[in-house]
Amino acid sequence: MFEKILIANRGEIALRIHRACKEMSIATVAVHSTADAEAMHVRLADESVCIGPPAASESYLNIPAIVSAATVTNADAIHPGYGFLSENANFARIVEEHDFAFIGPKSEHIAEMGDKVAAKAAMRAANVPVVPGSDGAVSDAAEATRVAEEIGYPVLIKAASGGGGRGMKVVTNNDEVSAALSMAQNEAKTNFGDATVYLEKYLGQPRHIEVQVLADGQGNAVHLFERDCSLQRNHQKVLEEAPSPSLAESERQRIGEICCAAAQRLGYRSAGTFEFLYENGEFYFIEMNTRVQVEHPITEMICGVDIVREMIRIAAGEPLSLRQKDIALNGHAIECRINAENPETFAPSPGRITEFHTPGGLGVRVDSALYAGYTVPPYYDSLVAKLIVHAGSREDCLLRLRRALDEMVVSGIETTIPLHQHVIDDASFAAGDYDIHWLEKLVADN
Ligand code: ADP
Repeated sequence: MFEKILIANRGEIALRIHRACKEMSIATVAVHSTADAEAMHVRLADESVCIGPPAASESYLNIPAIVSAATVTNADAIHPGYGFLSENANFARIVEEHDFAFIGPKSEHIAEMGDKVAAKAAMRAANVPVVPGSDGAVSDAAEATRVAEEIGYPVLIKAASGGGGRGMKVVTNNDEVSAALSMAQNEAKTNFGDATVYLEKYLGQPRHIEVQVLADGQGNAVHLFERDCSLQRNHQKVLEEAPSPSLAESERQRIGEICCAAAQRLGYRSAGTFEFLYENGEFYFIEMNTRVQVEHPITEMICGVDIVREMIRIAAGEPLSLRQKDIALNGHAIECRINAENPETFAPSPGRITEFHTPGGLGVRVDSALYAGYTVPPYYDSLVAKLIVHAGSREDCLLRLRRALDEMVVSGIETTIPLHQHVIDDASFAAGDYDIHWLEKLVADN
């Protein structure tokens, strides 16, 4: 097992990884920008290295600085967390070339799944149901029109290298194809440095359901059931729950087995998530995330499996210790992403935290790097805390979540806590009756 791990991230996920390391008696190295010198992940780590100025491009995305930090501290392995360099195949390759273990998949798999056209082709070949669309990239309007007519309007033009829900265009008829295509290509080029786009059937009222998989690259894979991440704003997840209130047990088993088989066939290693849209009882693969996800704690709560610990074990070359038959689904869990934002306008709200009180009690978990007196910097993602609640049933989970949200105090900045209170008070949400557009309608009607 590793003796020392460098955590190439910040905020709550850096802390989450630190905690797994400590419980495995592994020393930790934090890296940080000058803006994060006082951050909790730096305070708790055994060692820390400043890797650059506030701008992420010069610090948390600075590959030479991070690899040098690992070298000078004598780390054995690097965990990238989520965001930043976590899905950068080049980073994973460089890390391994410098003889550090990369706590994630092989760089080839990151590259393959990062190209959504290639990912869909690989999934089709592995018998995973995918959204109907162009079989590959689409480059001109005539071809796009032909494909769109074949799959039927409305269609979505998506960037092959896209992420974060950006660069998608809905097209409803032939007349719109040409303009939407060039706009999508330009946006893809500007945002992702790659103008490649592809076409997909636009689903009207799907849910977003994703399957968590763990695989060791030695032929073993298990699934940890699914998460429902349909509550989104601007294609960004806001609240997630596990299991999905809309899946029958037989469907859950079926999609879990399909994803395990695909992970084995790919020779995939580490934690991975198969993301699907789910409509009228059918699953449609949209992408695979080759890293730990923000919402991984709800899966940990219903399965009792420490996902980060398993990632570390797998990266150290240990075979999966879990067997599918030993993994039971226990109760229900919900995560609220608490952002430093105005709950109505969603304008960022960085600043000094004057008071911070986290809820507690049975079944309540808070993953956050906040503390009273800490100043939330304006340079990074606005996620400042995750409130995760677990109970025996969905109904009890909602009651516990309501109680926990009411207890939580974050003063000095604005947060999205009131939005979550509003969501869970809604009768349709309580009934589990929602799709990927539901939250935007709720916000618009407010
Ligand atoms: P990204 O990598 O940018 O997050 P995804 O492919 O994961 O992109 O899609 C993000 C979100 O966009 C989905 O959760 C869903 O809300 C919406 N979306 C993606 N593809 C489709 C589609 N074919 N039809 C309808 N909505 C879609």
